Amino acid sequence: MKKLLIANRGEIACRVIRTARRMGIATVAVFSEADRNALHVKMADEAVPIGPPPVAESYLKAGTIIAAARLTGADAIHPGYGFLSENPDFVDAVEAAGITFVGPPSSAIRAMGLKDAAKALMEKAGVAVVPGYHGEAQDAETLEREAERIGYPVLIKARAGGGGKGMRRVERPADFAAALEGAQREGQSSFGDPHCLIEKYIEKPRHIEIQVFGDRHGNVVHLNERDCSLQRRHQKVIEEAPAPGMPAEMRAAMGEAAVKAAQAIGYVGAGTIEFIVDGSEGLRPDRFWFMEMNTRLQVEHPVTEFVTGLDLVELQLRVAGGEPLPFDQSGVGLNGHAFEARIYAEDATRDFLPATGQLTTLRLPDGEGVRVDTGVAEGDRITPHYDPMIAKLIVWGPDRASALARLSRALGETRVAGSVTNVAFLARLAAHEGFAAGDVDTGVIGRDQAALTASAPPPAEAIAVAALAQLRRLAPVADDEPFAALAGFRSWGAARQAARFEGSDGRVDVPVIEDAGRFTVETPAGSTRLSVVDGSDPDRIRIAFGERIATVGIAHEAEAVTVFMDTLAYRFAHYSAEAHAEEGAGGDTVAAPMPGLVRAVRVAAGDTVETGQALVVLEAMKMEHTMTAPRDGVVAEVMVSPGDQVEEGTLLLALETED
Ligand code: ADP
Ligand code: ADP
Ligand code: MG
Repeated sequence: MKKLLIANRGEIACRVIRTARRMGIATVAVFSEADRNALHVKMADEAVPIGPPPVAESYLKAGTIIAAARLTGADAIHPGYGFLSENPDFVDAVEAAGITFVGPPSSAIRAMGLKDAAKALMEKAGVAVVPGYHGEAQDAETLEREAERIGYPVLIKARAGGGGKGMRRVERPADFAAALEGAQREGQSSFGDPHCLIEKYIEKPRHIEIQVFGDRHGNVVHLNERDCSLQRRHQKVIEEAPAPGMPAEMRAAMGEAAVKAAQAIGYVGAGTIEFIVDGSEGLRPDRFWFMEMNTRLQVEHPVTEFVTGLDLVELQLRVAGGEPLPFDQSGVGLNGHAFEARIYAEDATRDFLPATGQLTTLRLPDGEGVRVDTGVAEGDRITPHYDPMIAKLIVWGPDRASALARLSRALGETRVAGSVTNVAFLARLAAHEGFAAGDVDTGVIGRDQAALTASAPPPAEAIAVAALAQLRRLAPVADDEPFAALAGFRSWGAARQAARFEGSDGRVDVPVIEDAGRFTVETPAGSTRLSVVDGSDPDRIRIAFGERIATVGIAHEAEAVTVFMDTLAYRFAHYSAEAHAEEGAGGDTVAAPMPGLVRAVRVAAGDTVETGQALVVLEAMKMEHTMTAPRDGVVAEVMVSPGDQVEEGTLLLALETED
């Protein structure tokens, strides 16, 4: 292998390029118009444009990507995860073009592509599968009868589903029909396949998966487990290895089952067998069942790399080049403990609404036992076209407690401004008592969501720092600018001025009174006295609050200032009189809160609607968002139709004005 094309973007493209470079393999990036200046493009030796921003017109264009490989003379293609990574037709096309696909044979992907067929195959291979129904008949009566037989609660899954989509948990027969319809609809709209299977909903479920690796010489090994039980809506949030409380005999049993599963389909390369585990009575070797196989590199593979000391991408490339695995099962180690946290641009306090924005500040932690995989650099934009992931934070420690402490510290050192992030949510999760004790199951986040996502009002000290930042009173004043410090400040008379911020109900004035270099700031959270000890470095401003000297960070954007204090970030929007002048009569229109695609319009002009009623369904960043009526009223006009692409702020619908 001399030249590798990476058919992906973001952190995984960067991560693959890093290893290829270390191995002396030349790299080719592909990029959409939105990614022209992206990190993966800058890191690669060559780069080829493949089309407009929407993935269907760029990163999913198999023919265009293969043509890019031909153009650059790449002799291998790495698909990353997502996109074309589990598309068997793509694998066939790559191989037909005489190019090496870094991944399993297309037959293995086909065998595992649909959850129902995969389960039937695994049953035959002697691997325990989740009890349920995975037959052909799809009429509602049959499925409902099967659910009854399996016993409630059950989980309906679209067989083509992925990424947590197309799933419905059903508690009782009365809810079955509606849930089935929902799963079928989501299966059809997201994966083009309404076919569903039904599974027993496992009690106190834990998601434990086994990393497997095969080569072209018939060898298959497993690289131990990852516990991915910390999930939100069936999507992984924090992963770890090894699984807390894992007995050696259960690890051996799961490893053996995973190897058997991989061998049954002639697997080559990196793959993951996902098992669901009943953790209601601890981990027991007879309480795990095959759920699905992901025939690609997994997002969370770095935790396995930390505890085994292996580079999985290097192994992928070697195996794809025909080399045998350089070790057998007895050569696989397990050292210490690792965690991965997925840092996203999303607002945990608003039901994890995905966000966009320019990352004006992006400071990611480093140091011993800390690894960051990212596809963005400071100044880059999180666009609505792709997954809003900012980075993966991976930490290692000699044991679970020390690794978790490192995770907390690293999250505290993470500073992002320009977009809202889930860092504070992750930090609370890392400090969660049950999680710290290793008592995990997939319900942890859901049960404690309110506490994990509560929006804490900023403390007076943070508001005071923001006020000084807005008034430009934090930086030292050069000796040769005797009036600079006073400019504007005394123009209103006494040494008194007010910072102005955007509050939830309009302008918030924060008076600042200066007396010989000491400030008294009257914030809505109370009055605070402070003085600036050293303001020369905006990343490490030293401020005295009474006897305590704190170190804070400041990030200025045009319309806001972010204060980093005591491991948290507080963003304050500057008050803008112009913005308020432009506002029309509130509540008469519904605008898109983010750029996206109109999926459905639920009302028409003339309809009477009630507060909270669903109006328009918007898809943005792979999630659906329902826009609801801001008040009772009558629809005057609908400005969009299904299929429309809208920008942030685009008016979707207007209500008749109230008299
Ligand atoms: P992991 O276990 O690696 O986290 P996920 O199921 O979360 O696996 O998927 C990893 C990536 O692949 C995500 O970016 C996800 O959106 C994408 N993905 C997974 N399944 C599909 C699918 N069926 N279609 C499109 N993208 C998918
Ligand atoms: P996807 O392809 O979307 O990753 P999976 O079949 O892997 O779908 O399921 C995703 C998640 O849903 C699992 O990680 C687990 O948390 C939960 N889940 C799946 N099947 C069951 C089940 N039978 N009982 C309880 N939870 C389940
Ligand atoms: Mg899965």
